[in-house]
Amino acid sequence: MLSHLLASPKLSTGDLLALQGARLAEAVSHARAHSPLFAELYRDLPDTVTDPAMLPITHKPALMADFDRWVTDRGITHEQVEAFLARPEMVGTPFLGKYLLTTTSGTTGRRGVFVISTDELRPVSGPAYRPSTAGVLLSPLRTARLLAKGLRAATIMPATGHYAMVSLWTQAHGEGNKRHQRFSSLQPLPQLVAQLNAFDPAVLTGASSIVELLAGEKAAGRLRISPAIVMVSGETLSDEARASVTKHLGASVIDLYAANEALRLSKSCAQGWHHVFTDWVVFEPVEADYSPTPAGTLSHSVLISVLYRRTQPVLRYELGDAVLQRPDPCPCGSPYPAFKVQGRKADVLRNDDGQPTVVAQHLLIALQKRVAGIRQFQVIQEDESTLRLRMLPADGTDLDEAWPRVHHALATLLAEHGLARFTITRSGEPPQLSAGGKMRHFIPLDA
Ligand SMILES: [Zn+2]
Repeated sequence: MLSHLLASPKLSTGDLLALQGARLAEAVSHARAHSPLFAELYRDLPDTVTDPAMLPITHKPALMADFDRWVTDRGITHEQVEAFLARPEMVGTPFLGKYLLTTTSGTTGRRGVFVISTDELRPVSGPAYRPSTAGVLLSPLRTARLLAKGLRAATIMPATGHYAMVSLWTQAHGEGNKRHQRFSSLQPLPQLVAQLNAFDPAVLTGASSIVELLAGEKAAGRLRISPAIVMVSGETLSDEARASVTKHLGASVIDLYAANEALRLSKSCAQGWHHVFTDWVVFEPVEADYSPTPAGTLSHSVLISVLYRRTQPVLRYELGDAVLQRPDPCPCGSPYPAFKVQGRKADVLRNDDGQPTVVAQHLLIALQKRVAGIRQFQVIQEDESTLRLRMLPADGTDLDEAWPRVHHALATLLAEHGLARFTITRSGEPPQLSAGGKMRHFIPLDA
């Protein structure tokens, strides 16, 4: 049956679900055979599982706490992984000769660490799973622009760190070349704008919050680039932001909704929906009590099962995004179900002139890089000119001793971004979780 489906040129929604069921059975059977943690978790399940609803729900903190028993390669330990991640020069290079390591942002208390081999990504590396302009309008003008600019591609990302975007990019392009250049998202905006003006890319890729800032810079006349394609990732691009980026940058927008857990997750279409690759990923929008959320309603969270992962099983795992499934078929004709995503919106700080200037999250990543000894920062905006800082020290760090260094580093960063008006105060409490159990790195004034 499977070979027949795989040979078919165009899969129907039913075909996708049949493939999903068969692949889920394989993924579950592999996990319980090779991961001691999953063997225990799935002890009472029947031999073959094709219905995801039969699986217990898993959560990142518990899995990370039991990392060595989570992975299916007994040669991988959390200790080795952390030692590798501590070396920034190893970004994008193979861990143990064959694995790509990625992490979630270092500003969270317990960051997620993800291990995948290129073999595991191979099934989802074909043209059907690649971001492409096929679904978006690439007018003759944009095509001409793409070619005229020699397909030059600018990617904006943190300068270092084993983040998924950095690891994947470095794996593909090394230090970069004439056609593929990287630009630090942690530098002051005017500097980034000047660098992009000089490079004049045909394709621009970056976190949606940065891309939104750049659309504003273009509208203000400071940014002069006219890319044919803009690819956004990391956070949700609202419909308004998409319209602004399309209008000001004049580009076709491709929204790369993905996660460390699922590096290949979806493809965006011209109608602005994310089509999730349901032949390889089970995507279950759920309510707070984990009952299924009907299509047409915004969910509380979403559970994912990533069926191409073997080394580190991600099965019925709470991803946390609030999503809305389109109840009717998408006019673009894709057989994959269409979703909108909410809940990863970034907070942008405005400089002394009232211009949006930096994404708070990026500022905290930059701070983390400059100050050693702090595991976690959380910034609360008290008013138009005061930021209160909560800190969680690493083992062996004395906060009283560290505070002058932290204060100096943050004040310097703020000044670099035109945010010198802010006074920084120190909070006596550690970072707090939101009512929904999420760690927000930045709590804005209107929160
Ligand atoms: Zn569509």
